[in-house]
Amino acid sequence: MKFVDLNADYAHHKPEIDAAMARVIADGAYVRGRHVRQFESDFAALVGARFCVSCASGSDALYIALKALGLKAGDEVLTPAFSWIATAAAVTQAGGKPVFCDIERDSFTIDPAEIEARITSRTRGIIAVHLYGQSADMDRVMEIARRHDLWVIEDCAQAPLARFSGKPVGGFGDIATYSFYPTKNLGALGDAGSLTTQRADIAEFARAFADHGGKNQHVLEGVNSRMDGVQAAILSAKIPKLRAFNARRRRIAQGYDDRLGGLEGVQIPARRPHAEHVYHLYVVKSAARAPLQAALAAAGVPTAVQYPKPLPLYPAYRRFGHRPQDFPAACEAAARVVSLPLHPYLEESDVNRVAGVVLGHLKGRSHAESAA
Ligand SMILES: *Cc1c(COP(=O)(O)O)cnc(C)c1O
Repeated sequence: MKFVDLNADYAHHKPEIDAAMARVIADGAYVRGRHVRQFESDFAALVGARFCVSCASGSDALYIALKALGLKAGDEVLTPAFSWIATAAAVTQAGGKPVFCDIERDSFTIDPAEIEARITSRTRGIIAVHLYGQSADMDRVMEIARRHDLWVIEDCAQAPLARFSGKPVGGFGDIATYSFYPTKNLGALGDAGSLTTQRADIAEFARAFADHGGKNQHVLEGVNSRMDGVQAAILSAKIPKLRAFNARRRRIAQGYDDRLGGLEGVQIPARRPHAEHVYHLYVVKSAARAPLQAALAAAGVPTAVQYPKPLPLYPAYRRFGHRPQDFPAACEAAARVVSLPLHPYLEESDVNRVAGVVLGHLKGRSHAESAA
């Protein structure tokens, strides 16, 4: 059993992917060009945005978004203490200071109360991450942002087409950023990313900034963060299937929920009400994670820990002097989370087998405890 199955994904999409690559090669449109423009229009339509600007990765999308919002040296950006490091690193690279906020224990997303508590005169904006495929509490995030005149970036790398309050994520803040890293819900065959926005000024800046200010125009000094034609054409070919693949992920998650819900010893992922989770990852919590992972590994079931430490406690952020007690919910998550295999090619028999190993392991432990 595989944790993610990139080979199966290629096999499934092979005719479309091979044809897309052949078209790009025939056109010689390797970097930017018409396939990239087509992708931008396809992706904007998919998520319901006015503008989509492509770039080289989800990390770059965050950096370009922060530049487009005019981040200056010393500006503070509120960002969750529990995410992939790209979210926070982009703030530093853009010249600002990431200010870490603890997360909600159930959803693993940024805690709005923490946002309020950490606002200062230097705060400019908030990055909300829709972690594991589930929306942050965008009602409260946007309400706080409006009250304090802050911009909002939604990091949608793990959650394309997830919904909150009847609306797709990415449509709440000023800018949404996406990653098309191969293992993401919408994955390329290499690195790629994009941002979407309703604001023409942001789209115009981002488009110029991601391509050195525009070829022979150089309206500003930017960076080389261009999308490859091959990746664009592959993504356009996969876009029509994303909804169905997210639905498969939800079905597999439901299968795990049905078999593992309500157990002593493992906690299934909470679902936010009035929202739709797209299960980039299926993450359970266990107070005895290491033995659970060992039992699964022994049965040939791969697992992963996303993520083993809150961001502010990594050496990269030692300069802020944070301690674990600053982020109790992120610390609890880091100590307990374990991701079970979840990808669109997993069969119901696989789900049963994983759940069976978990159940058997927990039963063995409770017997051992009652015998002791
Ligand atoms: C993957 C990811 C990114 C970065 O995307 P890359 O394409 O790998 O640069 C940013 N934020 C989150 C939450 C991610 O999961």
